[in-house]
Amino acid sequence: MLKIDGITRRFGQVTALDGVSLEIGQGEFFALLGPSGCGKTTLLRIIAGFETPDDGTVTLDGDDLLALPPNRRPISLMFQSYALFPHMTVAKNVAYGLEREKLPREEIRRRVGEVLETVGLSAHGDRKPAQLSGGQRQRVALARSIVKRPRLLLLDEPLSALDKKVRADMQLELKRLQHEVGITFVVVTHDQEEAMSLADRIAVFDSGSVRQVDEPVALYERPRSPFVAGFVGANNLFRGTARTGGVDAGELGELAGTPLEELEEGAAALLCVRPEQIVLHRSGDPADGNAGDAESGEPVEALEGSVLDVSFYGGVSHLSVEVPGHAKPVLVAVQGASAVQPGAKVRLGWDAGDAVVIPATP
Ligand code: ATP
Repeated sequence: MLKIDGITRRFGQVTALDGVSLEIGQGEFFALLGPSGCGKTTLLRIIAGFETPDDGTVTLDGDDLLALPPNRRPISLMFQSYALFPHMTVAKNVAYGLEREKLPREEIRRRVGEVLETVGLSAHGDRKPAQLSGGQRQRVALARSIVKRPRLLLLDEPLSALDKKVRADMQLELKRLQHEVGITFVVVTHDQEEAMSLADRIAVFDSGSVRQVDEPVALYERPRSPFVAGFVGANNLFRGTARTGGVDAGELGELAGTPLEELEEGAAALLCVRPEQIVLHRSGDPADGNAGDAESGEPVEALEGSVLDVSFYGGVSHLSVEVPGHAKPVLVAVQGASAVQPGAKVRLGWDAGDAVVIPATP
């Protein structure tokens, strides 16, 4: 439905977007994810029409979108700040865009009623924005964005102003709404958990370029570059040389993993293993000395180290483990409270199928 092809935008010396190409399907919930300054907002502004690219094309259903002025594009943009009119009621705020289009009064009343119902604010139509909670204001902004029935809704960091609990609720709400209204959503965020929980597909940006486009699970389990492996979720990265069954990590020895298909043996590589995939044994435990069995799929205990720190988060605990010969502590996640204390000597292992081996260069 939306086709972005070779978009480049420079600001003086800065190349905000460097030949970005993406295809977004009808009804998709699509996220643009990346660190601050990587060009996400610039791309959103180009789609909305507030910014002109130096090069490239954008089409919507095959029609040239860049030729249309912003107000003629079938697109709504929801800002971080919501930008609600403080002196107008909720219903008036939502009706504003339709009134400007001079739609019949009765149609406006009906459509505003319907959309307030959709976002669960039917009882609050007569309130002013100041009389609402942050989450409710967020819903008014959403209602105002969808009441005009755009083909595409662009959301710039839509949940960043909300506190953690409300944010989690609103994530669910946004997802439900998107399904209900069937409008294609493109959301910009620097929060990888938010992108993964919301989106059907995610494009990961780095310095004006797209590094990977994938579904959340694929992005998490099969990052294809060091940038994505390090940016999306916590990860342990071990540098070495690609081998059929993992990497040769020099001083650390052979580490088990599954190389990406395109990776050639002998190439400079990174082995990536998630904290929750690592199995930890205390040295001296009955289970210790069990070297595992790669054939039977049991984790092979690969590394030895000592626990530096244990942090309890309720459902999980995070342990950082110092491994001689590896610069960064290895992060291990265990269910619930950890039985292991700082200072304990431990052995770490994982299943070869749970670690991915990727090229060391982008
Ligand atoms: P954030 O998450 O912080 O909003 P972003 O990924 O959305 O970041 P952009 O706002 O798209 O990043 O900016 C990309 C780059 O282009 C940055 O280096 C920024 O400083 C630069 N930039 C953006 N707009 C302009 C402008 N109008 N003039 C000059 N430089 C700009």
